[in-house]
Amino acid sequence: MTIFSKIVAGEIPCYKIAESDDFLAFLDINPLAIGHTLVIPKKEVDYIFDIDDELYTGLMLFAKQVAAAVEKAIPCQRIGVAVIGLEVPHAHVHLIPLKHVSDINFSRPKLQLAAEDLQATAEKIRTEFV
Ligand code: AMP
Repeated sequence: MTIFSKIVAGEIPCYKIAESDDFLAFLDINPLAIGHTLVIPKKEVDYIFDIDDELYTGLMLFAKQVAAAVEKAIPCQRIGVAVIGLEVPHAHVHLIPLKHVSDINFSRPKLQLAAEDLQATAEKIRTEFV
C-alpha cells in the first residue's frame, strides 16, 4: 500500500483540497511553492501512463478544476503542471503556483512550512473550489 493509498484510506492525514469518487487533491507537505498541490487517482497505479484512458482523462479534468481553485487562492502568474513519480509509486499530478520558472525546479530544496500555514493554505484553496 502506498503512502497515498493510506491517505485515501484515512490512515494518514492530509491537507485535503478536494475529493470525488475517483480522485483526491491535497497539499504537498514539502512544497516547491506555497499552494503546491497533488492530485491523485484513488486507485493505486504507479505509472501515470499505465492508467486507463477514462480514469486518466478524469484525473486531468479533476486536476484542471483544482488548478482553477489554486490559481484563485494563491497569488501567481499561472499554475504549472508536472508529473515526476520518482519518489512515491502512486500516480500524482503536481500543481504548482508559478511566479518564476524556477518555482517548478524539482532539484531545488523544498519549503519547510509550519502545519498551521499548510492548514491555512488548504482552507483558502478549498474555499475557491467549485
Ligand atoms: P514524486 O514521486 O517524485 O513526484 O514526489 C512525491 C511528492 O510527494 C513529493 O513532492 C513529496 O513532497 C510529496 N509527498 C510525500 N509524502 C507526502 C504526504 N504524506 N503528503 C503530501 N505530500 C507528500
